[in-house]
Amino acid sequence: MNTVPTGTPAPETLFEVRDLRVEYVTSRGFLGRPRQKIRVLDGFGLRIHRGETLGVVGESGCGKTTLAHSLARFIHPAGGEVRFEGRDVLSMDAAAMRAYRRHVQLVFQNPFSSLNPRLRVRSIVAEPLLTHLDLARGELDARIEALLRETGLGPDHMERHPHELSGGQAQRVALARAIVLKPRMLLLDEPTSALDVSVQAQILNLLLELKRGHDLTYMIISHSLGVIRQVSDRIAVLYLGEIVEQGPRERVFGAPRHPYTQALLASTPEPDPERRRRVSLRGSVPSPADPPSGCRFHTRCPHAMAVCRTRKPPRHRLAEGHWAACHLAAPG
Ligand code: SF4
Repeated sequence: MNTVPTGTPAPETLFEVRDLRVEYVTSRGFLGRPRQKIRVLDGFGLRIHRGETLGVVGESGCGKTTLAHSLARFIHPAGGEVRFEGRDVLSMDAAAMRAYRRHVQLVFQNPFSSLNPRLRVRSIVAEPLLTHLDLARGELDARIEALLRETGLGPDHMERHPHELSGGQAQRVALARAIVLKPRMLLLDEPTSALDVSVQAQILNLLLELKRGHDLTYMIISHSLGVIRQVSDRIAVLYLGEIVEQGPRERVFGAPRHPYTQALLASTPEPDPERRRRVSLRGSVPSPADPPSGCRFHTRCPHAMAVCRTRKPPRHRLAEGHWAACHLAAPG
């Protein structure tokens, strides 16, 4: 079992999420079906340490994007607590929220949806600087040029509109804009899933370089374990609005204990036959409007027992920083 050596300072918490609840109410359906309250995140908790990359992985519909949008406060949770550097994010007034948005930037899956099609790249990247800082034209241009160079673009890209960029170039512009105000944290919502495979690797490498160069902390969310494995220090596996397993990357990939994590790993191409796991994932994620009782994964789990249908599994500690919420992970 891993232990923290004596004298190792505890990691500093940058983000803390406790008991987060995010609900949507559906519109009235066909034949006047009653509105339904859908709880996408229910009693959700998470900690992100300064300087780390936390990878959040799960299938579509598990609540990943809702989580990123809640932390960015693009949607207002129904309850719970979100703290950034100790400050309560959910009760911030307009001035505090303005400062918060400088420090915490959200990067979207589709870069074209986040870039104003009418503006040139120069104006897109300059916009946050003009809103928050009073810079002379020369300094403004120098900053933008330096940032574009850092993100792999040249001065010739400054005068282009988004439609004149490739997907990879557009995501580079989105990243330049995201870091132009020197934020502390990027919330990366599937930042490579809209890109070609060859470009994905380039953008992931760029993210690693930017993190080192700008002392950033990342939360990256993806349905792809390959993406998560390449960039994350710790991993949280999300299923139907709940984290079912969490731990350091080596533990989650090397010794996964939750059947859902094992199934996700089994569906990822693995060249080493020794390491291939045979747990398969059947069916799709149930509706959050009517989540299964007990363990939410029991309707798809190949190891489900009677107790799984009635009793919610607690988190079982497996090693330092590694736990799984499964009855089979209970000690002894
Ligand atoms: Fe499967 Fe039961 Fe573990 Fe849930 S608690 S993952 S149903 S074995």
